[in-house]
Amino acid sequence: MDCLFCKIAAKQIPSKVVHDDNDVFAFEDINPQAPVHVLIIPKKHVATLNDLEKDDCEALSRVYMAAKKIALDRGVADSGFRVVANCNADAGQTVFHLHFHLLGGRKFGWPPG
Ligand code: 5GP
Ligand code: ZN
Repeated sequence: MDCLFCKIAAKQIPSKVVHDDNDVFAFEDINPQAPVHVLIIPKKHVATLNDLEKDDCEALSRVYMAAKKIALDRGVADSGFRVVANCNADAGQTVFHLHFHLLGGRKFGWPPG
């Protein structure tokens, strides 16, 4: 499949790997928007949140367990962090393999822009 993040998870395209297990892969965002900006993805190709299926629930909970661990490892668990999934055009999704941005290390505004 011609998907950038599938290729990154398969290590056909290099990335700075943060986490790698059976279901979940995490890597540094190439254009970080905060001191900590890690992308966490299910290895299974799911294009957007709209395409999530019941069978993906286990992988999705592992995504959040990875987020918890990475936030702790990066020292932002207590100071605070954000986990964001953009879905489709209005949210600004540019890569159509479901991914969760883990952002931390600075203060974020709310509501988001
Ligand atoms: P989206 O806008 O779809 O929510 O987020 C896509 C993210 O993927 C962006 O933050 C962008 O910087 C990141 N990104 C795009 N291409 C690459 C790449 O080739 N390698 C890495 N590590 N990140 C990428
Ligand atoms: Zn994919």
